Amino acid sequence: RPKVGVLALQGDVREHLAALTAAGADAVGVRRPRELAAVDALVVPGGESTTISKLAVHFDLMEPLRDVVVRGLPVLGTCAGMVLLADRIVDGTADQRTIGGLDVTVRRNGFGRQVDSFEQDLDMVGVEGRVHAVFIRAPYVVDVGPGVEVLAALEDGRDPGRIVAVRQGSLMATSFHPEVGGDSRVHGSFLDLVRSA
Ligand code: GLN
Repeated sequence: RPKVGVLALQGDVREHLAALTAAGADAVGVRRPRELAAVDALVVPGGESTTISKLAVHFDLMEPLRDVVVRGLPVLGTCAGMVLLADRIVDGTADQRTIGGLDVTVRRNGFGRQVDSFEQDLDMVGVEGRVHAVFIRAPYVVDVGPGVEVLAALEDGRDPGRIVAVRQGSLMATSFHPEVGGDSRVHGSFLDLVRSA
């Protein structure tokens, strides 16, 4: 079983630990650099990206996080985690820092305020069957660099065509929350990436 950490500073850590365990990983929370150094892969959860980045700086994790990304550790970022992995943010706060590594531009809170949350069934590369995607004050991907594969886009209904899941090398990110609803197939597809890395 691959040992997969969940960055446990803020956000929906517990749900990711459960989904990773269900998908066949040995899942652990990560709060310290030495815990980060001991995992085969990492999940950066949803929550509040500015809070997570401030806490990462406070706990001396920002540079270690950047290092593991540069060295090729497989990382899955969901919602706020997608914002944190993005190289470029639109509508972030002025001082917002990211881990970076993913050659995409992400619009934070991209679906506006009136309708903060919605759900849609999607096809996703690497996952069999439809994925029930839950969007909560979600970002979306505005543009992608040449090395980035689009894994999912919105279909009928709200904002068709918007990119909501991507992969670049060992980095994967979703706008939505695959950890809610008891479906661990997206985490399973991340573990496929971890095993092939
Ligand atoms: N809007 C949040 C942010 O930018 C993300 C919301 C979420 O992770 N559910 O940090």
